[in-house]
Amino acid sequence: MQGQMMHQPLRIIDILTYAAEAHGDAGIVSARVEGDLHRQSYQQTLARVAQLAHALTDLGVRRGDRIGTLAWNGYRHFELYYGVAGIGAVCHTINPRLSREQLIYIITHAGDRLLFLDLTFVPLVESLLPDLPAGLRFVILTDRAHMPQTTLDALCYEDLLTAQPPDYDWPVFPEETACGLCYTSGTTGSPKGALYSHRSTLLHALQVPLCQTSSFRAGKRILPVVPLFHVNAWGLPYVAPLTGMTLVMPGSDLDGASLFRLMDSEQVYSAWGVPTVWAGLLSEIKAQGRVPAGFADLVVGGSAAPRVMIAQYEARGVNVAQAWGMTEMSPIGSHGTLPPALENAPDEDRISAKCCAGRRLFGVEFKIVDDDGKALPHDGTATGELYVRGNTVISGYFENPEATRAAMDAQGWFGTGDVASIAPDGRLVIRDRAKDLVKSGGEWISSIDLENAALSHPALAACAVIAVPHPKWDERPVLVAVPATDARPSLAEIQAHMQPHFAAWQLPDDLLWIEALPLTATGKVSKLTLRAQFADYTHP
Ligand code: ADP
Repeated sequence: MQGQMMHQPLRIIDILTYAAEAHGDAGIVSARVEGDLHRQSYQQTLARVAQLAHALTDLGVRRGDRIGTLAWNGYRHFELYYGVAGIGAVCHTINPRLSREQLIYIITHAGDRLLFLDLTFVPLVESLLPDLPAGLRFVILTDRAHMPQTTLDALCYEDLLTAQPPDYDWPVFPEETACGLCYTSGTTGSPKGALYSHRSTLLHALQVPLCQTSSFRAGKRILPVVPLFHVNAWGLPYVAPLTGMTLVMPGSDLDGASLFRLMDSEQVYSAWGVPTVWAGLLSEIKAQGRVPAGFADLVVGGSAAPRVMIAQYEARGVNVAQAWGMTEMSPIGSHGTLPPALENAPDEDRISAKCCAGRRLFGVEFKIVDDDGKALPHDGTATGELYVRGNTVISGYFENPEATRAAMDAQGWFGTGDVASIAPDGRLVIRDRAKDLVKSGGEWISSIDLENAALSHPALAACAVIAVPHPKWDERPVLVAVPATDARPSLAEIQAHMQPHFAAWQLPDDLLWIEALPLTATGKVSKLTLRAQFADYTHP
């Protein structure tokens, strides 16, 4: 027997119409590339999103069309998320830090019809122009006064909106309709597209605040340093309006001092981003001798948060939670909110719990499998490749059957490429990315564990462990470190510091000092680049 309840397709635009009504005075504060701070409420945003929808329709955008964006975190980028999806088109966010070749591949593969870009990216797009598909049109995200001299035949965003009506009769379409497209950075092979739907995006926006409870408080402010140009800024453009939080958008200045200033003056309560960004902010916090005013909650994800970083923020009264996920998961898969039983546990135990990737998001299932695909127990010890399933996980890559076949197993689960164990209470421990594990003499060593132990030595500001080929052991771990001061402790001293946590054979064989660690397009430490950099390494 079927239930007798209405069925209304889930639509992203309903988040904003709800926020404009229920949280009308909350909104968006943006550090603009034009150099000033801009403020607008969700009510004003909804009116501008309606104007944008009219403008897109006038430009001939139809359902299913892909609309590219190359932009920092700001209110105009946010408007594109809603305006494009609102009329049934697909907002394709593009990561400007990708290589020229990848950018051209992505824009061509997606079949973008229009490309909206920030002023900052005009020279980049001009340089790509000869290799971009003919017929692609450009819109610069600025007003008439700031329109640059350019070889692009480009429209002006604010001109497009002016004189359009501030309301729109939003269409209803099946909730499975695509709304967003994001390509993974493609550290191996060509980038692959995750094509989100209204249904998956809305469910993700409901699931995240249900699980990651510490971050969401109506009336407070939240800062996505994680970019809108990659993995939907971890869903915050949807969750913030839904929960009545004001978004503080940092624009292009993401160094510690700029973030400190913005967070301090705007009283940011919760901030989200990758560990490298929070290392920068921590240096500024130490220099200033205080945390930014009102700052109480930090979500770290994208790669493992070092234990010492978690401990240093916690010691200053900032609650830290890790989030684990990936582009293919909308992106959050697990969250680090502590179970109530651990809230009053001794600091050491709380920090240890925070070093893992936390528990799964409601609606996402996990399994770990061995090399033969056999499911392993969730006993906290068994370790294997992590597979995931759920309404917010891709069922395949956008127009890429080959990559789809490689990623999905026979039961329809998606293989993450991460190696993990799962405790009986559901806590997920990411041991490593499969390709970053060090395989020494048939046994594997977690680079994440080694990095955590090494980084607790005060002479290290940052570090990464990479596998280097070894004639006898296949691979051995080598520690690449950025010094915190003028001190350069010996390998033996660092090994002695790490030794309590490891068997002797697991410790790094060598210590190489480096000025800065190379970063990926998403701001994570690029082990691929490091491995290439030390390709000719010979063992001492
Ligand atoms: P890319 O790094 O190519 O941009 P994603 O942003 O989708 O792709 O990154 C997903 C990967 O990042 C995961 O598969 C995992 O290896 C890593 N990752 C994300 N969050 C964490 C975390 N909290 N701890 C450890 N690894 C993480």
